[in-house]
Amino acid sequence: MLAEYYGDLHIHIGRTQEGHPVKVTASRTQTLPCVFEKAVAEKGLHIIGIVDAACPRLYLELAGMVEKGDARELAGGGLCYRDRLTVIPGAEVETTEENGCHTHWLAFFPSLEMLREFSFSLSKHLTNPELSTQPCHLPARVLLREVTAVGGIFFPAHAFTPHKGVYGQCTRRIKELLGSEYFQSIFVLELGLSADTDMADHLEELANLTFLSNSDAHSLRNIGREFNVFLLEEPSWSELIKAFKRSGGRRVVANYGLNPKLGKYHRTFCLSCRRIATADPPVLTCPHCGSEHVVKGVFDRIAEIGDWPEPRHPEHRPPYNYQVPLSFLPGIGAKTVRRLLDRFGSEIEILHRASREDIVEAVGLRVAEVILQARAGNVTIRTGGGGTYGKVMGEEYGAV
Ligand SMILES: [Zn+2]
Ligand SMILES: [Zn+2]
Repeated sequence: MLAEYYGDLHIHIGRTQEGHPVKVTASRTQTLPCVFEKAVAEKGLHIIGIVDAACPRLYLELAGMVEKGDARELAGGGLCYRDRLTVIPGAEVETTEENGCHTHWLAFFPSLEMLREFSFSLSKHLTNPELSTQPCHLPARVLLREVTAVGGIFFPAHAFTPHKGVYGQCTRRIKELLGSEYFQSIFVLELGLSADTDMADHLEELANLTFLSNSDAHSLRNIGREFNVFLLEEPSWSELIKAFKRSGGRRVVANYGLNPKLGKYHRTFCLSCRRIATADPPVLTCPHCGSEHVVKGVFDRIAEIGDWPEPRHPEHRPPYNYQVPLSFLPGIGAKTVRRLLDRFGSEIEILHRASREDIVEAVGLRVAEVILQARAGNVTIRTGGGGTYGKVMGEEYGAV
């Protein structure tokens, strides 16, 4: 029987359990066991993707968990942690394209053996294989070939972001970058925090792809700030692949993510006068001081390269639902979050399902009002850009 499973497929690991750095920009509390526990116990997720698992030390840690019986390999692919969570091991890789651009991609594998094989072949192209997402000297086309040859899947990460997203600076069309033959083996695309379905569906070449909304969490609290609702027979690799390809009734039934205005790169940011653009997109030079020294916003980039002025959603496209994670809500501190979690179990439960009366009873009217107004989409947002997140403004709740 098909059932709904919540999955966030882009989570980083900061350190190994012995304290060796893995992803240097991720928090040091972000170890494998902490991430697993947080994902199940507080975030309400069923499936997570670990994107630094090709680093040899982390691979060994996962293999050790299997050896100790804390995790097991699933018949349908993927790992099962303590019978509570499906873990898909993978890697975020940075390619170097022929035009000199560096671009981020995600690769996932069904088994530890395949992951090890890929880790070995990737390590030959890296200066320090123990650190994740280091620039690799190969273009995406070549890596895609290596990943699929091993039995994995390969697709763009945060596709529209200005620095390392494939559309950000590297190309106007992925099909041109990869060639149409390789483009055919791309089934999915990660939208990134600053984009949503309405924005991405301005590009004709994406009509056939399934969109993913993942957190790209570098710290525990950000796990699940974006996630996907998958309709699957069971939470395993082979079922996920079917959902990516929308076969046998398996599919993504909904994306949950930030309002893209909250993303760090939504609008163009001027590096000279440090203003975030508000004029109609595309803003490609600063309207205030005329500087061309800008970080182009995702909204602006899509307006620049889109095929259509309005989005055209293919029939299969699921709804994209905005959510405002607790960490983005004004006036809700760690203590309140703890009380909410004790009462409702997980953040997904609190944000989307808990009733008004229950929230009021747990944390009082003011906090309940903040959560419910955000759930209804009644929030005022100061738009993000240039690497600074957008902000939910708090005056209307009497909180600052
Ligand atoms: Zn990235
Ligand atoms: Zn990442």
